[in-house]
Amino acid sequence: MPTTISKSYTFEAAHLLPNVPEGHKCRRLHGHSYEVWIEVSGELDPVFGWIKDFGDLSKIMKPIIDGELDHRYLNEIPGLENPTAEIIAQWLWKRVKPHLPGLSLVRISETCTSSCSFSE
Ligand SMILES: [Zn+2]
Repeated sequence: MPTTISKSYTFEAAHLLPNVPEGHKCRRLHGHSYEVWIEVSGELDPVFGWIKDFGDLSKIMKPIIDGELDHRYLNEIPGLENPTAEIIAQWLWKRVKPHLPGLSLVRISETCTSSCSFSE
């Protein structure tokens, strides 16, 4: 029976959206406390009774979150020249999926009330 697990990570980063009209507030340099949720779906391992060790998720996610995104200017990262939540979610998917084949969803929040989900 397929089951899904989730784990969240946070990072702080600056960005601006270069393609929005002059005067749009997102065109000004600003920062967010981003929250990332990943979901992994699959069958339970018959011995361990889990899909995957949560610690294994962090071994994949921490180097990306802490090493590549935290306290960065996102626009400088290849692929994130226009770092909307949608594009960051897709970027994370492409970064994580090769290391985590069971990845079924990436969700990223910029604020308490705004988030984007991506899956293929
Ligand atoms: Zn923003």
